[in-house]
Amino acid sequence: MYDIKALYEAESVQHACALLLAHPEAKVLAGGSDVLIQIREGKLAGATLVSIYGLDELRGVAMEADGTIRIGALTSFSHITRSSVIQEHIAVLGEAVDMVGGPQIRNIGTIGGNTCNGVTSADSGSTLVAYDAVVELTGAEGVRRVPIRDFYIKAGKVDLRPGEIETAILIPKECYEGYKGHYIKYAMRNAMDIATCGCSANVKLSGDKKTILSARLAYGVAGPVPMRAPSAEAAANGRPVCAETVDAFAKAALQDVNPRTSWRATKEFRLHLVEELARRALAEAVRKSGGEL
Ligand SMILES: Cc1cc2nc3c(=O)[nH]c(=O)nc-3n(C[C@H](O)[C@H](O)[C@H](O)COP(=O)(O)OP(=O)(O)OC[C@H]3O[C@@H](n4cnc5c(N)ncnc54)[C@H](O)[C@@H]3O)c2cc1C
Repeated sequence: MYDIKALYEAESVQHACALLLAHPEAKVLAGGSDVLIQIREGKLAGATLVSIYGLDELRGVAMEADGTIRIGALTSFSHITRSSVIQEHIAVLGEAVDMVGGPQIRNIGTIGGNTCNGVTSADSGSTLVAYDAVVELTGAEGVRRVPIRDFYIKAGKVDLRPGEIETAILIPKECYEGYKGHYIKYAMRNAMDIATCGCSANVKLSGDKKTILSARLAYGVAGPVPMRAPSAEAAANGRPVCAETVDAFAKAALQDVNPRTSWRATKEFRLHLVEELARRALAEAVRKSGGEL
Protein backbone atom coordinates (compact mmCIF):
# COMPACT_ATOMS: atom_id res chain seq x y z
CA MET A 1 0.00 0.00 0.00
CA TYR A 2 1.17 3.49 -0.79
CA ASP A 3 0.39 6.17 1.79
CA ILE A 4 -0.84 8.94 -0.55
CA LYS A 5 -3.04 11.76 0.70
CA ALA A 6 -4.31 12.89 -2.68
CA LEU A 7 -3.47 12.29 -6.34
CA TYR A 8 -4.31 14.88 -8.98
CA GLU A 9 -3.90 14.00 -12.65
CA ALA A 10 -2.88 16.95 -14.81
CA GLU A 11 -4.61 17.22 -18.18
CA SER A 12 -2.23 19.80 -19.65
CA VAL A 13 0.98 21.59 -18.70
CA GLN A 14 -1.01 24.66 -17.62
CA HIS A 15 -3.30 22.45 -15.55
CA ALA A 16 -0.25 20.89 -13.85
CA CYS A 17 1.09 24.35 -13.00
CA ALA A 18 -2.30 25.44 -11.63
CA LEU A 19 -2.58 22.26 -9.52
CA LEU A 20 0.91 22.86 -8.10
CA LEU A 21 0.03 26.45 -7.21
CA ALA A 22 -3.22 25.33 -5.59
CA HIS A 23 -1.42 22.57 -3.64
CA PRO A 24 2.03 23.98 -2.81
CA GLU A 25 2.91 20.95 -0.70
CA ALA A 26 2.37 18.59 -3.66
CA LYS A 27 5.11 16.59 -5.37
CA VAL A 28 5.24 16.20 -9.13
CA LEU A 29 4.87 12.56 -10.14
CA ALA A 30 6.43 11.49 -13.46
CA GLY A 31 7.55 7.86 -13.80
CA GLY A 32 7.47 7.52 -10.02
CA SER A 33 10.68 5.47 -9.76
CA ASP A 34 12.02 7.85 -7.11
CA VAL A 35 8.77 9.25 -5.67
CA LEU A 36 6.90 5.98 -5.13
CA ILE A 37 9.96 4.36 -3.53
CA GLN A 38 10.22 7.31 -1.12
CA ILE A 39 6.53 7.05 -0.28
CA ARG A 40 6.89 3.36 0.46
CA GLU A 41 10.01 3.98 2.55
CA GLY A 42 8.05 6.52 4.58
CA LYS A 43 10.15 9.57 3.62
CA LEU A 44 7.26 10.93 1.57
CA ALA A 45 4.42 9.16 3.36
CA GLY A 46 1.11 11.01 3.19
CA ALA A 47 2.20 12.99 0.13
CA THR A 48 -0.05 14.92 -2.19
CA LEU A 49 0.89 14.15 -5.79
CA VAL A 50 0.34 15.95 -9.08
CA SER A 51 0.83 13.37 -11.82
CA ILE A 52 2.07 14.66 -15.16
CA TYR A 53 2.57 11.15 -16.53
CA GLY A 54 -0.42 11.44 -18.88
CA LEU A 55 0.97 14.48 -20.70
CA ASP A 56 2.10 12.89 -23.96
CA GLU A 57 3.13 16.30 -25.34
CA LEU A 58 6.11 16.06 -22.96
CA ARG A 59 7.34 12.79 -24.55
CA GLY A 60 9.79 12.30 -27.37
CA VAL A 61 13.00 13.55 -28.95
CA ALA A 62 12.87 16.04 -31.82
CA MET A 63 15.20 18.20 -33.85
CA GLU A 64 14.03 21.82 -33.98
CA ALA A 65 14.40 24.03 -37.09
CA ASP A 66 17.62 25.64 -35.77
CA GLY A 67 19.18 22.24 -35.00
CA THR A 68 18.42 22.28 -31.27
CA ILE A 69 17.73 18.78 -29.94
CA ARG A 70 14.61 18.82 -27.79
CA ILE A 71 14.02 15.99 -25.31
CA GLY A 72 10.60 16.13 -23.66
CA ALA A 73 10.81 15.88 -19.87
CA LEU A 74 8.70 12.70 -19.79
CA THR A 75 10.86 10.87 -22.30
CA SER A 76 11.97 7.55 -20.86
CA PHE A 77 15.59 6.39 -20.84
CA SER A 78 14.74 3.53 -23.24
CA HIS A 79 13.19 5.97 -25.67
CA ILE A 80 16.26 8.24 -25.55
CA THR A 81 18.62 5.33 -26.22
CA ARG A 82 16.52 4.21 -29.20
CA SER A 83 16.05 7.70 -30.66
CA SER A 84 17.68 8.08 -34.09
CA VAL A 85 18.29 11.79 -33.38
CA ILE A 86 20.24 10.91 -30.23
CA GLN A 87 22.10 8.05 -31.91
CA GLU A 88 23.18 10.29 -34.76
CA HIS A 89 24.10 13.48 -32.89
CA ILE A 90 24.76 12.76 -29.22
CA ALA A 91 25.09 9.00 -28.95
CA VAL A 92 26.87 9.27 -25.60
CA LEU A 93 23.64 10.43 -23.94
CA GLY A 94 21.79 7.32 -25.15
CA GLU A 95 24.68 5.18 -23.91
CA ALA A 96 24.75 6.93 -20.52
CA VAL A 97 21.05 6.51 -19.79
CA ASP A 98 21.25 2.90 -20.94
CA MET A 99 23.32 2.33 -17.77
CA VAL A 100 20.47 3.35 -15.44
CA GLY A 101 19.22 0.54 -13.15
CA GLY A 102 17.71 -2.26 -15.23
CA PRO A 103 15.27 -2.49 -18.17
CA GLN A 104 12.12 -1.86 -16.11
CA ILE A 105 13.55 1.32 -14.58
CA ARG A 106 14.75 2.50 -18.00
CA ASN A 107 11.22 2.03 -19.38
CA ILE A 108 9.50 3.98 -16.60
CA GLY A 109 12.16 6.51 -15.47
CA THR A 110 12.19 9.86 -17.25
CA ILE A 111 14.90 12.36 -18.01
CA GLY A 112 12.81 15.01 -16.23
CA GLY A 113 12.81 12.96 -13.04
CA ASN A 114 16.52 12.22 -13.39
CA THR A 115 17.36 15.94 -13.53
CA CYS A 116 14.69 17.34 -11.17
CA ASN A 117 15.69 15.00 -8.32
CA GLY A 118 18.97 16.96 -8.12
CA VAL A 119 20.98 13.79 -7.48
CA THR A 120 24.72 13.84 -8.24
CA SER A 121 24.76 10.18 -9.32
CA ALA A 122 22.05 10.66 -11.99
CA ASP A 123 23.37 8.92 -15.09
CA SER A 124 22.09 11.61 -17.45
CA GLY A 125 23.53 14.47 -15.35
CA SER A 126 27.22 14.56 -16.27
CA THR A 127 26.61 14.16 -20.01
CA LEU A 128 23.97 16.91 -20.02
CA VAL A 129 26.35 19.18 -18.08
CA ALA A 130 29.20 18.30 -20.45
CA TYR A 131 27.04 19.29 -23.45
CA ASP A 132 25.85 22.57 -21.90
CA ALA A 133 22.23 21.43 -22.03
CA VAL A 134 19.49 23.92 -21.18
CA VAL A 135 16.52 23.09 -18.96
CA GLU A 136 13.14 24.37 -20.10
CA LEU A 137 10.79 25.16 -17.22
CA THR A 138 7.14 26.10 -17.59
CA GLY A 139 5.05 27.85 -14.98
CA ALA A 140 1.84 29.85 -14.87
CA GLU A 141 3.75 32.93 -16.04
CA GLY A 142 5.44 31.28 -19.00
CA VAL A 143 8.64 29.54 -19.98
CA ARG A 144 12.15 29.95 -18.53
CA ARG A 145 15.33 28.45 -19.91
CA VAL A 146 18.15 27.76 -17.46
CA PRO A 147 21.60 26.33 -18.26
CA ILE A 148 21.76 22.95 -16.57
CA ARG A 149 24.89 23.99 -14.67
CA ASP A 150 22.83 26.71 -12.95
CA PHE A 151 19.77 24.45 -12.57
CA TYR A 152 21.64 22.31 -10.04
CA ILE A 153 21.77 24.38 -6.82
CA LYS A 154 22.89 21.84 -4.22
CA ALA A 155 22.46 18.17 -3.44
CA GLY A 156 18.78 17.36 -3.99
CA LYS A 157 17.87 20.98 -4.83
CA VAL A 158 17.28 22.38 -8.31
CA ASP A 159 16.06 25.73 -9.59
CA LEU A 160 12.35 24.87 -9.82
CA ARG A 161 10.04 27.67 -8.68
CA PRO A 162 6.62 27.12 -7.09
CA GLY A 163 4.11 26.06 -9.73
CA GLU A 164 6.77 25.17 -12.31
CA ILE A 165 7.54 21.89 -14.03
CA GLU A 166 10.40 20.93 -16.28
CA THR A 167 9.01 20.57 -19.79
CA ALA A 168 12.14 19.75 -21.82
CA ILE A 169 15.89 19.45 -22.03
CA LEU A 170 17.38 21.39 -24.95
CA ILE A 171 20.80 20.84 -26.50
CA PRO A 172 21.66 23.66 -28.91
CA LYS A 173 23.37 22.72 -32.19
CA GLU A 174 26.64 24.49 -31.37
CA CYS A 175 26.91 22.39 -28.21
CA TYR A 176 26.91 19.01 -30.01
CA GLU A 177 27.93 19.66 -33.63
CA GLY A 178 31.33 18.12 -34.35
CA TYR A 179 31.67 16.57 -30.88
CA LYS A 180 31.91 12.89 -29.96
CA GLY A 181 31.62 11.80 -26.36
CA HIS A 182 32.13 8.89 -24.03
CA TYR A 183 30.58 8.14 -20.62
CA ILE A 184 32.02 5.79 -18.02
CA LYS A 185 29.97 4.71 -15.03
CA TYR A 186 32.04 3.17 -12.28
CA ALA A 187 29.72 1.20 -10.02
CA MET A 188 30.09 -1.74 -7.71
CA ARG A 189 28.01 -3.94 -10.02
CA ASN A 190 27.15 -3.82 -13.72
CA ALA A 191 23.40 -3.27 -13.26
CA MET A 192 20.93 -2.06 -10.65
CA ASP A 193 23.53 0.10 -8.96
CA ILE A 194 24.09 3.81 -8.89
CA ALA A 195 27.44 5.31 -9.85
CA THR A 196 30.34 5.43 -7.41
CA CYS A 197 31.63 7.96 -9.93
CA GLY A 198 30.39 8.86 -13.40
CA CYS A 199 32.54 10.62 -15.99
CA SER A 200 31.47 12.10 -19.32
CA ALA A 201 34.00 13.56 -21.76
CA ASN A 202 33.53 14.86 -25.27
CA VAL A 203 35.84 16.33 -27.81
CA LYS A 204 35.97 18.22 -31.10
CA LEU A 205 39.11 17.63 -33.17
CA SER A 206 40.66 19.65 -36.00
CA GLY A 207 40.08 18.47 -39.58
CA ASP A 208 43.41 16.61 -39.65
CA LYS A 209 42.55 14.98 -36.27
CA LYS A 210 45.86 16.17 -34.80
CA THR A 211 44.62 18.95 -32.48
CA ILE A 212 41.96 19.11 -29.78
CA LEU A 213 39.86 22.15 -30.67
CA SER A 214 37.59 21.70 -27.65
CA ALA A 215 37.37 19.16 -24.85
CA ARG A 216 34.64 19.06 -22.21
CA LEU A 217 34.48 17.01 -19.06
CA ALA A 218 31.86 16.54 -16.37
CA TYR A 219 31.36 14.21 -13.43
CA GLY A 220 28.69 12.75 -11.25
CA VAL A 221 29.53 11.93 -7.61
CA ALA A 222 32.69 14.06 -7.67
CA GLY A 223 30.84 16.74 -5.71
CA PRO A 224 27.32 17.41 -4.40
CA VAL A 225 25.85 17.89 -7.91
CA PRO A 226 26.95 16.96 -11.45
CA MET A 227 29.86 19.29 -12.25
CA ARG A 228 32.20 20.44 -15.03
CA ALA A 229 35.99 20.26 -14.82
CA PRO A 230 37.25 23.54 -16.32
CA SER A 231 40.92 23.03 -15.39
CA ALA A 232 40.97 19.74 -17.25
CA GLU A 233 39.35 21.34 -20.28
CA ALA A 234 41.91 24.19 -20.26
CA ALA A 235 44.73 21.62 -20.15
CA ALA A 236 43.50 20.02 -23.38
CA ASN A 237 41.99 22.81 -25.46
CA GLY A 238 44.24 23.70 -28.42
CA ARG A 239 46.71 20.95 -27.51
CA PRO A 240 47.96 18.16 -29.78
CA VAL A 241 46.19 14.81 -29.77
CA CYS A 242 48.70 12.73 -27.83
CA ALA A 243 49.04 10.72 -24.63
CA GLU A 244 50.70 13.65 -22.82
CA THR A 245 47.67 15.86 -23.43
CA VAL A 246 45.31 13.16 -22.20
CA ASP A 247 47.44 12.73 -19.09
CA ALA A 248 47.55 16.48 -18.38
CA PHE A 249 43.75 16.62 -18.84
CA ALA A 250 43.19 13.76 -16.39
CA LYS A 251 45.55 15.16 -13.74
CA ALA A 252 44.10 18.69 -13.99
CA ALA A 253 40.61 17.32 -13.29
CA LEU A 254 41.71 16.76 -9.68
CA GLN A 255 41.73 20.55 -9.18
CA ASP A 256 38.03 20.78 -10.05
CA VAL A 257 36.37 18.14 -7.94
CA ASN A 258 35.36 17.68 -4.33
CA PRO A 259 34.25 14.10 -3.73
CA ARG A 260 33.40 12.81 -0.29
CA THR A 261 33.72 9.55 1.54
CA SER A 262 30.52 7.49 1.65
CA TRP A 263 29.78 3.86 2.34
CA ARG A 264 30.36 3.17 -1.37
CA ALA A 265 33.89 4.57 -1.57
CA THR A 266 36.42 6.74 0.18
CA LYS A 267 37.25 10.23 -1.02
CA GLU A 268 40.73 8.96 -1.96
CA PHE A 269 39.33 6.18 -4.13
CA ARG A 270 36.96 8.62 -5.82
CA LEU A 271 39.89 10.94 -6.55
CA HIS A 272 41.66 8.00 -8.15
CA LEU A 273 38.54 7.38 -10.24
CA VAL A 274 38.28 11.06 -11.20
CA GLU A 275 41.75 10.95 -12.78
CA GLU A 276 41.60 7.51 -14.34
CA LEU A 277 38.07 7.82 -15.74
CA ALA A 278 38.96 11.18 -17.32
CA ARG A 279 41.97 9.59 -19.00
CA ARG A 280 39.92 6.70 -20.37
CA ALA A 281 36.87 8.75 -21.34
CA LEU A 282 38.89 11.35 -23.25
CA ALA A 283 40.95 8.68 -25.01
CA GLU A 284 37.77 6.94 -26.13
CA ALA A 285 36.14 10.21 -27.22
CA VAL A 286 39.26 10.98 -29.29
CA ARG A 287 39.10 7.53 -30.86
CA LYS A 288 35.39 7.94 -31.69
CA SER A 289 36.29 11.27 -33.32
CA GLY A 290 38.82 9.58 -35.60
CA GLY A 291 41.93 10.63 -33.66
CA GLU A 292 44.85 8.36 -32.85
CA LEU A 293 46.77 8.24 -29.59
C1 LIG B 1 15.78 0.08 -8.61
C2 LIG B 1 16.20 1.46 -9.04
C3 LIG B 1 17.41 1.63 -9.70
C4 LIG B 1 17.80 2.92 -10.10
N1 LIG B 1 19.00 3.04 -10.74
C5 LIG B 1 19.39 4.25 -11.17
C6 LIG B 1 20.63 4.40 -11.87
O1 LIG B 1 21.37 3.46 -12.09
N2 LIG B 1 20.95 5.66 -12.32
C7 LIG B 1 20.15 6.73 -12.11
O2 LIG B 1 20.50 7.83 -12.55
N3 LIG B 1 18.98 6.62 -11.45
C8 LIG B 1 18.57 5.41 -10.97
N4 LIG B 1 17.39 5.29 -10.30
C9 LIG B 1 16.61 6.48 -9.97
C10 LIG B 1 15.45 6.84 -10.91
O3 LIG B 1 15.03 5.77 -11.70
C11 LIG B 1 15.77 8.01 -11.81
O4 LIG B 1 16.18 9.13 -11.05
C12 LIG B 1 14.58 8.41 -12.71
O5 LIG B 1 15.11 9.21 -13.73
C13 LIG B 1 13.50 9.20 -12.03
O6 LIG B 1 12.54 9.51 -13.02
P1 LIG B 1 10.97 9.35 -12.73
O7 LIG B 1 10.26 9.80 -13.94
O8 LIG B 1 10.68 7.98 -12.25
O9 LIG B 1 10.85 10.41 -11.55
P2 LIG B 1 9.82 10.55 -10.35
O10 LIG B 1 10.09 9.52 -9.32
O11 LIG B 1 8.44 10.65 -10.86
O12 LIG B 1 10.31 12.00 -9.83
C14 LIG B 1 11.61 12.22 -9.34
C15 LIG B 1 11.72 13.64 -8.79
O13 LIG B 1 11.65 14.60 -9.82
C16 LIG B 1 10.48 15.41 -9.72
N5 LIG B 1 10.00 15.53 -11.11
C17 LIG B 1 9.90 14.53 -12.01
N6 LIG B 1 9.58 15.01 -13.22
C18 LIG B 1 9.46 16.35 -13.08
C19 LIG B 1 9.16 17.40 -13.99
N7 LIG B 1 8.95 17.18 -15.30
N8 LIG B 1 9.12 18.67 -13.51
C20 LIG B 1 9.37 18.92 -12.19
N9 LIG B 1 9.67 17.96 -11.29
C21 LIG B 1 9.72 16.69 -11.73
C22 LIG B 1 9.56 14.68 -8.77
O14 LIG B 1 8.72 15.58 -8.06
C23 LIG B 1 10.58 14.02 -7.84
O15 LIG B 1 11.07 14.96 -6.91
C24 LIG B 1 16.97 4.03 -9.87
C25 LIG B 1 15.74 3.85 -9.23
C26 LIG B 1 15.35 2.58 -8.83
C27 LIG B 1 14.03 2.40 -8.14
